[in-house]
Amino acid sequence: MGFLEGQVLGVKLSYQEFIIYSTAVLWIFLRWLDVRQLGRLSNTKRPKHLEKMVEEDAFKSSQEYGAAKLYFSMFRSMVETPKDMYLLFNSTMIWTVALDLAKKIGSEKHEILITSLIFIYLNSLIDLAVGIPFSLYFDFVLEEKFGFNKKTIRLFIMDQLKTQALTVCILGPFMAIFLTLLTYENFVLYVNVFIFVFTFVMMQIYPTLIWPLFNEFSDVTKEGLKDDIQKLCDSVSYPLTGLYEIDGSKRSGHSNAMLYGFCNNKRIVLFDTITKQLNNEEIIAVLCHELGHWQYWHVIQGFVINQVNFFIILGGFSLCSKDLSMYQEFGYSTMIPVIGFTIYSKLLEPVQALMTVIIHGIQRFWEYQADSYAIEHKKGNELITALEKISKENKASLDPDPFYSTYHYTHPPIVDRLNVMRENLKKAK
Ligand SMILES: [Zn+2]
Repeated sequence: MGFLEGQVLGVKLSYQEFIIYSTAVLWIFLRWLDVRQLGRLSNTKRPKHLEKMVEEDAFKSSQEYGAAKLYFSMFRSMVETPKDMYLLFNSTMIWTVALDLAKKIGSEKHEILITSLIFIYLNSLIDLAVGIPFSLYFDFVLEEKFGFNKKTIRLFIMDQLKTQALTVCILGPFMAIFLTLLTYENFVLYVNVFIFVFTFVMMQIYPTLIWPLFNEFSDVTKEGLKDDIQKLCDSVSYPLTGLYEIDGSKRSGHSNAMLYGFCNNKRIVLFDTITKQLNNEEIIAVLCHELGHWQYWHVIQGFVINQVNFFIILGGFSLCSKDLSMYQEFGYSTMIPVIGFTIYSKLLEPVQALMTVIIHGIQRFWEYQADSYAIEHKKGNELITALEKISKENKASLDPDPFYSTYHYTHPPIVDRLNVMRENLKKAK
């Protein structure tokens, strides 16, 4: 008896039926959000409340950029959703190929595990083959048209090759351990501990070992900036051990700044795009906002939320992983962990959509907190001009649909942020 039977509004559903209906409902919901947002983006006239903030031409251009990106992602989902469903419902085809390859390698003892790893890799190759034309179009046509793309074809290919190599070297062993742990009775606990350790290690090695494969880290050279940043860090006792500028501009004109590191080993990374777009006071204000995230423990909280989310996911998997009918519906006669988890991930998509809304809501709350931290440290006015410049340079959507932004945005719409900051500045006077 399937664990879903009799549980969805009193209707008996098989696993396959549940996946088809829930995917369809979620897909329609997401396209409904897209259509709402497209309606907003088709306005070429500035709404009254934006007249002071942005010129007519800049507004029009940001609307066009937003619409172009949205049409692109809608088209992509029309290709990729059916592809994902096809691969899931016909996964035995790829499994058979993977099994043949595993037999050729001749590892009888670990046949299921080796087959599973090949199965995952074959699926990822299909995703890659379908995804590359989209990535090429996105970078070299869409971003190019709006002046953001700085990549060359050579860099694009190198990025893909490096990503593939990292996938094999890091994700391969990760999946091998993950799938082995799933075979244990107590897998919820084991996998959680493993994910905890893995995430922690990755957070340590990503900035020092992986990121430098993609970007060059150099000294901050902008006049006076290094001293200003050191002063800011000293004033809030931030244990800064490394300050770098990276060549983000070799890929894109979009700008960014970030803080990372653990305990007493903290680094700051500035994209060269941001040092060009903003003056020193504005960069300091942006970093002060970032320090707000650190002061309020947002990274640690995010880490905990992810861990709890994963715990719930695994708990759910333990409810259906032993149900043979789930595997049988998809053409398997035995309970293979990688197949079970693949089907389960698809079952879980509606729940994950709900989690997305909750997590994005929390993240937007954190942004307001970090903004008020910058105001408390007398950087409010500079942060406002910095955000205005960045949003203009990045052609951010200035007038998004509220439902669309609630679901998709990790940052509050820029106008809301600026309004709240101006209010808080008035109160602080
Ligand atoms: Zn932030």
